[in-house]
Amino acid sequence: MSLIIDCHGHYTTAPKALADWREKQIATLNNPSQAPKVADLKISDDEIRETLEANQLKFMNERGSDLTIFSPRASFMAHHIGDYQVSATWAAICNELCYRVAQLYPDRFVPAAMLPQSPGVPVETCVAELERCVNEYGNVGINLNPDPSGGHWTSPPLTDKYWYPIYEKMVEYDIPAMVHVSTSCNPAFHTTGAHYLAADTTAFMQCLTGDLFKDFPSLRFLIPHGGGAVPYHWGRFRGLAMILKKPEIEEHLMNNIFFDTCVYHQPGIDLLLDVVPNKNILFASEMIGAVRDIDPRTGFYFDDTKQYIEAAKISAQDKHNIYEANTRRVFPRLDAQLKAKGL
Ligand SMILES: [Zn+2]
Repeated sequence: MSLIIDCHGHYTTAPKALADWREKQIATLNNPSQAPKVADLKISDDEIRETLEANQLKFMNERGSDLTIFSPRASFMAHHIGDYQVSATWAAICNELCYRVAQLYPDRFVPAAMLPQSPGVPVETCVAELERCVNEYGNVGINLNPDPSGGHWTSPPLTDKYWYPIYEKMVEYDIPAMVHVSTSCNPAFHTTGAHYLAADTTAFMQCLTGDLFKDFPSLRFLIPHGGGAVPYHWGRFRGLAMILKKPEIEEHLMNNIFFDTCVYHQPGIDLLLDVVPNKNILFASEMIGAVRDIDPRTGFYFDDTKQYIEAAKISAQDKHNIYEANTRRVFPRLDAQLKAKGL
């Protein structure tokens, strides 16, 4: 029996007080003396329990997943709002909340951190929060936003030395980053329908163009949402790699890049499993997220991705790798925590 590890969950159902606090923070951006204090935010353990037991935990139990790697709500990161200090305060609050979730349900949730990124600000300003989350909160990974401008793509590509201070810390701590954008403030890009998937595809292409993993052979990126358009266009990317005089994708990128299974229909999952090497696929659902309804064609929730993996025509060993083994390999700190519990 595999441990079913969902490597992509966000606290999308956090108590309303969190959103209210953030609204006040945004409303006072030009008037910092009126800004809400961190201590103004009051959320009880019972409120946290209520929001999880009626939502994520309920679905985990119904669908049969054991453990979720849980990070702050991605669309709420909104790194484009305010300056670095605004992001730093907001990230600290959100990360602490996910830590509390993991404290309340240590067998069901393991935290991953958002970073206090801010467009145009050197990324080393995020290192202290990363260290805090790993050392004090037991975070096993981070979410790295390749576009903190929120849809205007003003940051250098992920292969640029701009990002290296974060990569050095990731390598030191042996943690992966999920490359995950936040809300789009560009009306041309719908947040979850266009910006997310475009960013997934863009991140992969940025890595394909460069030689980042020569500088960081052990660096690991998890590209969510099934890798965006990448699996569907594998031939295009292989061809582009040839033109760019790069090795085959499997050698050039696939020791360092992994895709999750947040693809919300069977043919999409089948294509992902068919095209992408099994060792590079990690189980995830991202529930409760972009698509929260039941698919009338199947009778189960779009984001109940375990149904698709179960129905896929792959071996039991391959399923085990997707559910557990690959995730433990990509998240060594999670593996260590599980081993410490005898799992
Ligand atoms: Zn997500």
